[in-house]
Amino acid sequence: MIGVQRVPFLYQIGISHYSRESIMSENNINAKGPYYVDQECIACDACVLIAEKHFKIDEEAALAYVCKQPHTPEEISLCQEAMEACPVEAIHNDGQ
Ligand code: SF4
Repeated sequence: MIGVQRVPFLYQIGISHYSRESIMSENNINAKGPYYVDQECIACDACVLIAEKHFKIDEEAALAYVCKQPHTPEEISLCQEAMEACPVEAIHNDGQ
C-alpha cells in the first residue's frame, strides 16, 4: 500500500490522461513537430538540462516531453544533442 495515496485517483482506476500510454497516443503532450519523446523515457532529466526551453518533465507521468519544437539552427543543435544524450533513446526526430 506504500505510495497508493500519492497516485491520482483517475490514474488508479485506469482512466487518467496521465497514463504513459495515453500520453504517447491520443493525448500526446509533445509539441507538434518532428521531435518527440516516447514512453521509454526514464525521466532522468538529461534532455531538460541540455535543452531546457524544449524539454520538460511531466511529474505525474514521470515522463519527459517536447514543450517547444526547435526552429533556429542553435535550437535544433540543442535538441539533437539532447536526443543523442538520452540514455534510453526515447527522443526521436521523424523529420516532418
Ligand atoms: S534524456 Fe531521455 S530518458 Fe532522460 S528525461 Fe529526456 S527523454 Fe527521458
